[in-house]
Amino acid sequence: MIYRQYGDTGIEVSAIGFGGMRFENYDDRDACAELVKSCYDAGINYFDTACGYAGGKSEEVMGLAFREMQKTRAEKPFYVSTKSGSGLPGDVRKDLEGSLQRLQVDCIDFYHVWYVNSLANLENRKKAGVLRAFEKAKEEGLVKHICVSSHMPGDYIGQALRDYPFAGALLGYSAMNFSYREAAVQAASDLGRGVVVMNPLGGGLIPNHPERFSFVKTSPDETVVEAALRFLLNDERITVALVGMSKQEHLREAISAVEGFKPVPADEIKRIKRSLKQAFVELCTCCGYCNRCPHGIPVSKFMEAYNYKKLKGSRQDMINRLRWHWGITPETAGLEKCVECGLCENACTQRLPIVSRLGEIAEDLRNFIQAQKA
Ligand code: SF4
Ligand code: SF4
Repeated sequence: MIYRQYGDTGIEVSAIGFGGMRFENYDDRDACAELVKSCYDAGINYFDTACGYAGGKSEEVMGLAFREMQKTRAEKPFYVSTKSGSGLPGDVRKDLEGSLQRLQVDCIDFYHVWYVNSLANLENRKKAGVLRAFEKAKEEGLVKHICVSSHMPGDYIGQALRDYPFAGALLGYSAMNFSYREAAVQAASDLGRGVVVMNPLGGGLIPNHPERFSFVKTSPDETVVEAALRFLLNDERITVALVGMSKQEHLREAISAVEGFKPVPADEIKRIKRSLKQAFVELCTCCGYCNRCPHGIPVSKFMEAYNYKKLKGSRQDMINRLRWHWGITPETAGLEKCVECGLCENACTQRLPIVSRLGEIAEDLRNFIQAQKA
């Protein structure tokens, strides 16, 4: 396993972390806990979950494993990461107490202000006393480090890190969307903060489309999953890549990516980044150049979610992506504000037919709402 310093905390964490949102069957609690324990045995020491994953069941099964892992924690440390997305201090406290109980630990090592979807949202939480509630928990020894989790564009996350001394940031980053969050990764590195990346495999799109993403491979022997993880391991600004594990096979693949890792030469990295455009013909690369809508429509978020419809072939995957990744619900999407001026489309580096795609998405969302009502 490769270990890296988490920002300036002095904590050494494994470069591959356990992402606890993809357990296969929560009813089989022992199998879920066993998977967590196997990861620990294999050298993974960063375990991430959230109070809201599967209504708390993710924390529960991880807590079962932690109870066992506590026996060897002194000589083989592990670190617990979870989150609260509440907007009121009292609710943060309830989230924290629930998490501590389910996780069966006395302290959360990395506690995240979760789901920060804009700088205004973060400001509102500060004004409401949410950050103070996190700080109080830290003073009481219930939390070690306060972090932020966000799907905002990279420069906004960078700004959030400059505005508040978060120990680190949790953000989505992969061979698919690195340009969208590059500014955050660089800001964190400049400020001495940790960077934990979620969705390193593009939410399953990379392993499910090995041909399309074969450009990440730097040798014929590696799988596209190993290559995508090595792309991240190669970037020393990234502290941990969280792999959403649901079976032992995922652990094996992640470990083999680390074991066979050799630094990727700079010209290979350049080639991978260049190839992205060709591999993404007809797809959004998340560069963000289209985000100039005078009516405030977050165009790149819609286009990124549309990738899921295109690659997975289902409207529901796109709607899920909008809802769970971008916080955009069918009811609040606001696409009716689009006047089809074409400003975003003219700026698109991929020459995507943005206006017609937005129309298609709007229709999908209307149909979805109608189907819900029927
Ligand atoms: S086409 Fe629609 S989304 Fe694009 S800039 Fe114009 S109003 Fe905004
Ligand atoms: S400019 Fe095109 S490729 Fe870039 S984020 Fe917007 S839609 Fe995607």
